[in-house]
Amino acid sequence: MNDASRPRERSALTGFAVNMLDRREDLRNKPDAVNALRHRSDTRIAVVAGETPILKRLDGEALSVWFSHGETQSLGDGLEEVFLGLAPDGAPRFARLLDRSLADGLRERPELFVTDLRSVALKKLVPKDELGPLGQGKALLDWHARHRFCAQCGGPTTSGAAGTKRECSACGAQHFPRTDPVVIMLVTRGETCLLARQARFAPGMYSCIAGFIEPGETFEDAVRRESWEEAGLRVGTVRYIASQPWPFPSSLMIGCIAEALNDEIVLDTTELEAGRWFKRDEALQMLESAHPDGLTSPQHLAIAHTLLRAWAIEGERA
Ligand SMILES: [Zn+2]
Repeated sequence: MNDASRPRERSALTGFAVNMLDRREDLRNKPDAVNALRHRSDTRIAVVAGETPILKRLDGEALSVWFSHGETQSLGDGLEEVFLGLAPDGAPRFARLLDRSLADGLRERPELFVTDLRSVALKKLVPKDELGPLGQGKALLDWHARHRFCAQCGGPTTSGAAGTKRECSACGAQHFPRTDPVVIMLVTRGETCLLARQARFAPGMYSCIAGFIEPGETFEDAVRRESWEEAGLRVGTVRYIASQPWPFPSSLMIGCIAEALNDEIVLDTTELEAGRWFKRDEALQMLESAHPDGLTSPQHLAIAHTLLRAWAIEGERA
């Protein structure tokens, strides 16, 4: 998918969303073709040890997720390998899983940089068009690591179709990677919006509320249910704004703006430690890191940032 085909989508502004790879579903069931791609000189491989990305130092401060075959040889044995797709120049891209115990040893190597995936995104450690494929690879490899046995009969499973499914050797069942949909919403009431914080957030940071979609729910209904459960707010209109792949471990964030029908907030204090209505001016100050009390909003990569910008700056409403 190239940038020209999605020129105005807000989703493309979120972290992990820029992914220029052509996934080439047609090649996945052709083992000989995938094997040939694996051994090309221009093939590049993203490497993850457990859940930790292994990055390569380029000249100077720059880092990259992509290793050549030769460079991966000394990193350790691959437990799984998945085909991600072809880069715009046609070069194949794969992702490889190493045992999580190798991460600490690799951290000591001067030619490598080892850190968690959130930090890679937050600190913009790699080019934007490498972050999407890294998230794709990490989500897929996580799924493989957690699905070694068949959910139907308990038998061992093996990777198939270039890493895009697992097959049970006992009963023959096929299992496919899961993506877990989550709604995240900026609940508004006229010229105010609800922002809340969890205890684990950085001090002073407030964000949108969110929750997993349950079986049998539309995303609009999930927004209404979560707004009621977490904040005691009845919500009317819900409007979709943007989405974001969120590979922790395999979510898809569906970002909405919603209009509340009542004013009084009743927080679910098991999930949230604070939350209140913020005026638009205050939201703008938080986006600009200029709030008089030092309150902040999520950073650029987060879809909550995109939602708050859409409402406070771009005038979007439910
Ligand atoms: Zn089975």
